[in-house]
Amino acid sequence: MSIYDRFGVAPVINASGSVTRLGGAPMPPAVLDAFRDAASEAVSMEQLQAAASRRIAAVTGAEAGLVTAGSAAALTLGTAAILTRYDPGKMERLPHCDAFPHEFVVAREQRSGYDHAVRAAGARLIEVGFNEIVANAGVRRTEAWEYEAAFTPNTAGVLYVFAPHSQPPLADVVERAHHQNLPVLVDAAGELPPRSNLKDILATGADLVAYSGGKAIRGPQSTGILCGRRELIGAAAVQMLDMDDHLELWDPPADFIDKSWLGGLPRHGIGRALKVSKEEIVALLTALDLFASGAYDADLPQFRSWLETIAAAVKGLPVRCAIVDKGDGQSPPWLEVTLDEQGLGRTAFDVCRSLRNGTPPVYVSHGKLAQGTLVIYPLCLNADRAAMLGKRMGEELQPR
Ligand SMILES: *Cc1c(COP(=O)(O)O)cnc(C)c1O
Repeated sequence: MSIYDRFGVAPVINASGSVTRLGGAPMPPAVLDAFRDAASEAVSMEQLQAAASRRIAAVTGAEAGLVTAGSAAALTLGTAAILTRYDPGKMERLPHCDAFPHEFVVAREQRSGYDHAVRAAGARLIEVGFNEIVANAGVRRTEAWEYEAAFTPNTAGVLYVFAPHSQPPLADVVERAHHQNLPVLVDAAGELPPRSNLKDILATGADLVAYSGGKAIRGPQSTGILCGRRELIGAAAVQMLDMDDHLELWDPPADFIDKSWLGGLPRHGIGRALKVSKEEIVALLTALDLFASGAYDADLPQFRSWLETIAAAVKGLPVRCAIVDKGDGQSPPWLEVTLDEQGLGRTAFDVCRSLRNGTPPVYVSHGKLAQGTLVIYPLCLNADRAAMLGKRMGEELQPR
């Protein structure tokens, strides 16, 4: 019996990992306990976010940090902070910012649907570079000089989407941007593990970095982290917090928001729609501690054993199985099941759809369907779900 039965919604077996459309990563018991305990008392949100800032700073090496409503919210708030700094008039006007610099330079190859979060604050994206490799029309990727060549008096900053093989190197982009006194906002939402990325990305000199709290960190699905320069984090916080107070009474911790920098008390900012609850903040910080301490590494052998269970269940069927492991001792392995589509008489797309429509619904990762491959991520499985998933795959992969 699932609590979701009460609402007439069937729980699914999620073999897609921490994806948002299936509710993200499972929260460990300590995180759930923290959430429940935090809910039972009231607290000043400025003080709680200031405490979060100190914890995030300790883990990342940043000057300051903020718990946000996901990494996308962190991008909107980071953009807003860069656009307005501590100017309450600009804060009030967002997302309308024609009257001040509001362009963010971004590599064309780093554009994605997630940059809507940057545009939502009012910023306009200016693309540089090309997509020659994808177009099979050249061999070069975006180069650092192209950013600098695109800077104009209307440029507010740079957006950089961090990935293991992103180009040009972030440090080079930071150097070009800082040369013109422009800040760099980094989307590193899904770039954990490795744990070292908590510090290494900021160590390039990047001004603000956004991480998801509901992916590998296993905090509440609706949380994220924005960390970086104190002044920008303060400007982001002012635009997210509930500002219905009197300037004379409002007393945020000065190491988090320096009131003296503000020309007046702004009203609710653009981030007021992106609020996080005290429970979410406490739970995210608890999960961050677990993640940063390496506690999740102990789960890796179990993850692998579940993948082996699933691979064993489809043995002898017209598929080829491979367990893939980054080998960093931190990242969960995954299972790739490549179909003999001719032998089966069905495509990976067909099988993926049947699995979703079965009982219970099973969602395998759909990133390699075009290559005939179903991908199984173990993060949201357990022993029972792995056994059920293996059974359902065994049924669906019978030659017809
Ligand atoms: C997941 C992801 C996001 C969004 O993160 P949320 O925490 O779900 O808001 C943004 N950018 C990239 C590259 C992502 O992978």
